Amino acid sequence: DRTVSSEVSSFDEQFELSLRPQRLAQYIGQHKVKDNLRIFIDAAKMREESLDHVLLYGPPGLGKTTLAYVIANEMNVGVRMTSGPAIERPGDLAAILSALEPGDVLFIDEIHRLPRAIEEVLYSAMEDFCLDIVVGKGPEARTVRLDLPPFTLVGATTRAGALSAPLRDRFGVLLRLEYYDDESLAEIVSRSATLFDVTIDAEAAGELARRSRGTPRIANRLLKRVRDYAQVLSDGAITHALANQALELLQVDPLGLDHIDHKLMQCLIERFNGGPAGVDTLAASIGEESMTIEDVYEPYLMQIGFLQRTPRGRMATHLAYDHFGYEQP
Ligand code: ADP
Repeated sequence: DRTVSSEVSSFDEQFELSLRPQRLAQYIGQHKVKDNLRIFIDAAKMREESLDHVLLYGPPGLGKTTLAYVIANEMNVGVRMTSGPAIERPGDLAAILSALEPGDVLFIDEIHRLPRAIEEVLYSAMEDFCLDIVVGKGPEARTVRLDLPPFTLVGATTRAGALSAPLRDRFGVLLRLEYYDDESLAEIVSRSATLFDVTIDAEAAGELARRSRGTPRIANRLLKRVRDYAQVLSDGAITHALANQALELLQVDPLGLDHIDHKLMQCLIERFNGGPAGVDTLAASIGEESMTIEDVYEPYLMQIGFLQRTPRGRMATHLAYDHFGYEQP
């Protein structure tokens, strides 16, 4: 398992649940998103209406699921969680929707992976709060209209571009989550440390923040790992020196890159002279899936300016040559 992966493992789930902020005021960073949401939430509450449907998009681990819970808490309503691939038949969706209480939040993670047939059923549910369901077969078949309570759909996706236009258009609020700055991440680390009842000094929190790839999920995971080292190697308190030592043992470099990032960049530089190289070729050379490279590794390497996507393939930048100690081509 990669320590710096931004994806959730089942091992993470319980741990993440315990760290989730419950309220907008506890949700660190993402000021633009929070300011907007605050207004929409207050306005909906004043009108005593359900909140408009919200689409959250951005890389994994940035707090989309957390925000869905926060929205429900702020609106004082319940929340139902599901995901695109989990809804296989229109009946699955009908069952979920008809069980909602008025005003509830329905969270659909990975909404871009919803089957097309389901998406079409969702349109009328989102627009008119009703479902048209076909019952019976052949000449006996007829459509039955089912009224639904008003609800708020919160959709989350890592790929806004993969969402069909008709679905995207039915969201009243579109919010893009950005990678977090180091200051916000350090605050998240300190908050989590308090919840764990471990002491961490400000420099150590800053160090973990810098190596977290702009991602709260990774920051929390690094904290958890480093806490183990602190417990075994010292008195449990996390100092800057201890954090550095632990991060070195975890093979997370000063920019938060790990051995797989190194392998990817070194392969691109050494075997393909810095590129351009197609993502499939690159994936095959390092024994990873192209999709994993595109969704998991590349976004951060591009964010820090090490990798460029060009029409002819991936290219390593001057910054990458410097960081990995190669002479400029
Ligand atoms: P996503 O759904 O985007 O993959 P999650 O909502 O599951 O991400 O967030 C991952 C973890 O990061 C959560 O356990 C949560 O504790 C933490 N987290 C995310 N965003 C924030 C934030 N703004 N403030 C504090 N903690 C956060």
